[in-house]
Amino acid sequence: MIDLTITEALKKLKSREISATELARAHLDRIEKYGEQLNCYITVTPERAISDAAASDARYAAGDALALDGIPIGMKDLFATRGIRTTAASKMLENFIPEYESTVSQKFIDSGTVLLGKTNLDEFAMGTFSKTSFFGAPVNPWQIERRLTAGGSSGGATSAVASGLAMGGTGTDTGGSIRFPSAITGLVGMKPTYGLCSRWGCVAFASSLDTPGPIARTADDAAALLAAMAGFDPKDSTSVKNGFDFNGELQPILGDGKSLRIGLIKELQDVKISDDMQKIFNARIADLKSIGAEIVEVSIPNILDALAAYYIIAPAEASSNLARYDGMKYGLRVDGADLIDTYKKTRASGFGDEVKRRMIIGTAVLSSESYDVYFMQAARVRRMIADAFRTAFDGCDLIVCPSSAGAAMPLDADLTPLEYYALDLFTVAMNLAGVPACSAPAGLTENGLPLGLQVVGPRFADMRVLQLAKHIQQFSNIDNRPTKVMGK
Ligand code: GLN
Repeated sequence: MIDLTITEALKKLKSREISATELARAHLDRIEKYGEQLNCYITVTPERAISDAAASDARYAAGDALALDGIPIGMKDLFATRGIRTTAASKMLENFIPEYESTVSQKFIDSGTVLLGKTNLDEFAMGTFSKTSFFGAPVNPWQIERRLTAGGSSGGATSAVASGLAMGGTGTDTGGSIRFPSAITGLVGMKPTYGLCSRWGCVAFASSLDTPGPIARTADDAAALLAAMAGFDPKDSTSVKNGFDFNGELQPILGDGKSLRIGLIKELQDVKISDDMQKIFNARIADLKSIGAEIVEVSIPNILDALAAYYIIAPAEASSNLARYDGMKYGLRVDGADLIDTYKKTRASGFGDEVKRRMIIGTAVLSSESYDVYFMQAARVRRMIADAFRTAFDGCDLIVCPSSAGAAMPLDADLTPLEYYALDLFTVAMNLAGVPACSAPAGLTENGLPLGLQVVGPRFADMRVLQLAKHIQQFSNIDNRPTKVMGK
């Protein structure tokens, strides 16, 4: 049962070949077995899962099942869940139990999903290996004995979905946090168009970049999850009117004489990537050509400056968003001699080092001496990148590029903060531009680890992005069934 995709499970649930309760139990058993070793959940919610599943079975029996009825999922622990601890993987929110439900998690409730628990992540989603989590890092189920990273910041979700501890999950992508972890765990991770999924009730990191999205084992599954998550929300001022309609299967956009112009970004061609990645990239492009894709070159002149701009804009917004954690209304409070001392003690003890580093950088770039030279310049670069993507899509339908330079690294790799930041080179530009981008499983390295390729589209081309991602996954020789990745 663990190896079923969401699409397959829905068919079996509808035909009553399996029940939602059986499906939930199978996943809870597996969490029992592997949960600790993988450290992919911060909080497991077995009682909630069983009651969700019972309600779902009742709807199937009554013949009024919802779109994702009975599908067991993991919710990134950045989405507020009413009555269920929501930590953002921070000591600051270690015991925070929200009294409200985020829009995204509410939409999953309304779609009939079964909540297995809250998945691990980098503290406040700041990081690339999920190592900044107050609860310790999740582990990649691929070659588990090697203790590789499942990526970050949505590394708990990718660890859980790749290992069969959830059928699908939610992530948030501010600079790559859905796509990078999905790429190195053999999954499909979709960062939708900015605004398509509501940020309301999702713990804020960098509001102009934060993008909730799905993590799944196939493009069809990702599309099904996205259809549940997307939609206008009056509670999020950047929410857009567009929804995402999906009828259960992504249709081919290549083959049978169909034509599609795929753009390769000129400026990325000189960026150093692993030999494995280069081989897989070339092979998949050749595959796409063989079914009718026309390959063209496009230019995003400032794309290599995206990293610098991102690491100014994201910390700037973070420093402002995280000012609210002062020990007064909710979260950790460490009493000091007076008000200021209480602020200081609370913040000094509640935040981890990386979060503090971001707030220091953010406060510095927003200071009156630095605002024009750093923040405004970064905002200009951002505008140029967004414009360049728009122009590029005049010359092509979709862009394909690597999701990362290489495969999963060991969790104990000792990288400097700048070396971690550099790993985001292939992902941050799409957040700055607000365009949809999906990492699709693309192939295995010589050593048998998964690599992903990104499909990028113009704003609101989310459907086409997923359609091409499906083609890429079909050409890859990745068997990402959990019992193959991780064992029975
Ligand atoms: N790795 C990036 C960072 O540390 C991206 C994080 C994210 O997308 N949440 O900021």
